[in-house]
Amino acid sequence: MKRIVKDIHQRINRAAVGCGRKPETVKLVAVSKTVSSERVSEAIDSGVTILGENYIQEAREKFNNLVDRPVKWHFIGHLQSNKAKYAVRMFDLIHSIDSIKLAKAVDKEARKIAKVQDILIQVNISQEETKTGVGETETLQLVKQISNLDNVRLLGLMTMPPFFNAPEKTRPFFKQLSQIKEQIAGLNIKGVEMKELSMGMTGDFEVAIEEGATFVRIGTAIFGARR
Ligand SMILES: *Cc1c(COP(=O)(O)O)cnc(C)c1O
Repeated sequence: MKRIVKDIHQRINRAAVGCGRKPETVKLVAVSKTVSSERVSEAIDSGVTILGENYIQEAREKFNNLVDRPVKWHFIGHLQSNKAKYAVRMFDLIHSIDSIKLAKAVDKEARKIAKVQDILIQVNISQEETKTGVGETETLQLVKQISNLDNVRLLGLMTMPPFFNAPEKTRPFFKQLSQIKEQIAGLNIKGVEMKELSMGMTGDFEVAIEEGATFVRIGTAIFGARR
């Protein structure tokens, strides 16, 4: 596991340096859905500092097992408003806010525990029916609505492009997310930071880094194929 994590960090660094970026501007989120607490623990020992989980129930169990470990927890799956309470208690960053209803639920639960919850908006660039995320054209409106909430802090955007066998095919989606981020950042909306871009997975993270990713979400390359 140590060698695998080291190898991924090296690939991230190489991709960053290759396009003139500082390697430390790209952070690895190790996606641990379906992976046992024991193996996640091993990953932490091997240098993983951020975990990405998709399911609240599954994450709660691991969170309890690993609560003392020096690792940040990110939620990257689809979040239902009625699970906001659990998400706010466990996660340092929620990547997948895709409606004002969900943002308000998160804000409300964060207020109850006197927390300011860091969040990203998940944008559906590809406009596929099956994918979650807010449409491109509604993104700005959601940003403005979220900027009025006191207990969430919007840090940027996330996307999950359609699956391709060739990583180059995902580039236009990453480019587009980056452009949306720059446009919104240029508006200097109060309370909105727009500095993070969560994009890129096992098959395409190097392309995502070239297009400005600050978080890459990598599962298979670290933990192997999921059952
Ligand atoms: C599973 C998952 C990943 C990781 O995908 P890999 O191809 O295994 O690296 C990244 N992001 C999200 C949202 C996921 O659900």
